[in-house]
Amino acid sequence: MPERFSRRALLALMSVAWLGGRASARAGTTEQNGAVAPEPLEEIAPGTFVYRAPYELIAADNDGAIANMSLVVGSEAAAVIDTGNSRLAGERMRAAVRAVTDRPVRYIINTHMHPDHVLGNAAFEGQGAVFVAHRKMPRALSVRAETYLAQVERMLGPAAEGTRIVLPETLVDTRMELDLGGRRLVLDAHPTAHTDNDLTVFDSATGTWFLGDLLFVGHIPTLDGSLKGWLKLLDALVARPGIARAVPGHGPASVEWPAASADERRYLEILRDDVRRLIAEGRSMGQAADEAGRSERDRWALFDEFNARNAIAAYHEFEWE
Ligand SMILES: [Zn+2]
Repeated sequence: MPERFSRRALLALMSVAWLGGRASARAGTTEQNGAVAPEPLEEIAPGTFVYRAPYELIAADNDGAIANMSLVVGSEAAAVIDTGNSRLAGERMRAAVRAVTDRPVRYIINTHMHPDHVLGNAAFEGQGAVFVAHRKMPRALSVRAETYLAQVERMLGPAAEGTRIVLPETLVDTRMELDLGGRRLVLDAHPTAHTDNDLTVFDSATGTWFLGDLLFVGHIPTLDGSLKGWLKLLDALVARPGIARAVPGHGPASVEWPAASADERRYLEILRDDVRRLIAEGRSMGQAADEAGRSERDRWALFDEFNARNAIAAYHEFEWE
């Protein structure tokens, strides 16, 4: 599998860089006093901060901080949205939060069950925060937990220490509002799209909409739910009024909405049309994995890592329609 090869190649390159002393920028995750270095945050609107993740797979030089993480600060309390792919990534986000505000973190919100959005939860445990997610999230995470944890240990080695599953207990059926003091967060649980447990977070004070992985910008969208469902949901999301800016799960810290969804929609529609055509032509799943979506190859980061998997997921979805 090319993905495994490239990860291994990346690790090999990294150990060379490490030996050469060139990995110092991220190798300095642990400062001399033993505290972790905070992730850099960008303030995209008053009291609204985003750690913008690189377009990378989990690897030793990113600590698993490969999905965007956000912070919203109210007059009484703060909320963190997504926590990274390891306890260390979560610790670095927590350090970033402490550098920005002394308000207590009252809510940890996970936008869905994927490991790069939830495995840093452990860093925020035991500090009075309530963990919040879509009502279907705990089950989706539980059935994948072993696989997710094994992957972190394989990719991060000793830096995976302390990474464990922390399941949310406050669950959103359809909509829930959270009060941070002077600003309300509106959480919406969506039908199956990117996954079966996608949750969006709207900040009423600034009109910022945190879309999790319902929005990919630059990073190829990854499909783990329903392609048809995702396209249908996109229609509803783009029609929502009052959005000043959006924060994608992967991509720039702040983008225009709905303009920033155009590339994702184009990719998903091409994938859908290609897979349907290949099925109609009697082609195999393997052929679909090779061919569907190919015209998009130069337009996305991490295309080779995820496109074939997306095509296979779509093939399963459309095979019997
Ligand atoms: Zn995801």
